[in-house]
Amino acid sequence: MPRCELITIGSELLNGSVLNTNAQFLARQVSALDIDVVNQVTCRDNEVEIMQALRTAIDRANLIFVTGGLGPTPDDITRDTIARFFGCGLEFDPRQYRQIVKFFKTIQRETPAVTRQEAFRPAISKPLVNRFGIALGFYITIQRRLLIVLPGVPRELKQMFDTAARPLITRTFPNRARKYSLEARIAGLHEPQIMNRLGKRFFRDRDFEFGIYPAIGEVTIRLKSKDKRLLAVLKRELREVLGLHLFSFENETISEAIGRELVRKRLTLSCVESCTGGLFAKLITDASGASKYFKGSAVAYDDKVKSDKLGVPKEVLSSNGAVSGAVARALANGAQRNYGTSLAISITGIAGPLGGSKRKPVGLIYVGMSSPLGTQVFEFRFSGERSRIRLQATQRALFVLWKWLKS
Ligand code: ATP
Repeated sequence: MPRCELITIGSELLNGSVLNTNAQFLARQVSALDIDVVNQVTCRDNEVEIMQALRTAIDRANLIFVTGGLGPTPDDITRDTIARFFGCGLEFDPRQYRQIVKFFKTIQRETPAVTRQEAFRPAISKPLVNRFGIALGFYITIQRRLLIVLPGVPRELKQMFDTAARPLITRTFPNRARKYSLEARIAGLHEPQIMNRLGKRFFRDRDFEFGIYPAIGEVTIRLKSKDKRLLAVLKRELREVLGLHLFSFENETISEAIGRELVRKRLTLSCVESCTGGLFAKLITDASGASKYFKGSAVAYDDKVKSDKLGVPKEVLSSNGAVSGAVARALANGAQRNYGTSLAISITGIAGPLGGSKRKPVGLIYVGMSSPLGTQVFEFRFSGERSRIRLQATQRALFVLWKWLKS
């Protein structure tokens, strides 16, 4: 089984200015190729430290990734350090240079002289031409080890991984033990509730890897096994145990899954939000193709807007308060009527940190849902800071909608 190490280079990664997303991306991609990532190192742009990291990685791994520090500034020393490490000089790559000139032409700028430096690579390496940016990538095969060096810009790294690195890896390590994987995405249940539903039985006497990853309002389960049939059995069991909480096996968001159902059922959607300030509409429209079913939305923050624009009766507002089931119901009905949609969602609540009371604490949320079958209202209590409460409320509202669509 091949073993991989990742070396990400950049002082900005160590001092916390930039989040090391390249390490996460590469680790995911490499793991998906059934190669174990056994170590990750982040180095400053410092020759001694980079050399040390290379030495250790080459000692114990067959696949080594290096990213970052290929730029034209004096602190970008990755290319020179790797050449020195292998005791070779640098070689100019005319193809990459042509690419650089072309790049600057498209943005109507002169090619800066310093960028020429980015078309060099260690003489013992082979080029990985970067069609997505400026810095040349390269790879070195030595003693049945593969060292791949890619630019640090995350967008370029991703594209170069897909177009160049992945094919190179699969070619170099053709006999990887194939593992099958499955990803289940779950809403409306917390991690302990999910584990409870799965019980010990799910894990007994079966050989598979299990990971559970909770995020706000959503949980992902990842399974891996060499046994394809076992994975099919586990998939069926997950479906049985989690019911409609399991909204996708296809790596899609709940908004995308909702979109798919709305299209299938030829239904349209609108919403009106108060405390979530448009987040529900944002997540719904994050799904490509949302215009097929999403008609529009309002952020009704002030009581006057709730009554004048959404038709919430003033007496309902004054006797129940804006954060109430009655107002959530009236808002959902108002959106359904205003936008002429088959379905409408409303969200009203107290996101905090101000505005809570004993009777109506921070985190109290009402979700309304109007459909051709009538209007339902749900009450939820969430905790945490403002952004967390807003996201939890939105995710819950999405789940209310999903549940209705699947019931
Ligand atoms: P270029 O020549 O295009 O600048 P490079 O290889 O020199 O490529 P860097 O200069 O190291 O890349 O970084 C370019 C940008 O990418 C910077 O904004 C940097 O913060 C970011 N970056 C570098 N490494 C990582 C990483 N591991 N994760 C996330 N962002 C990164």
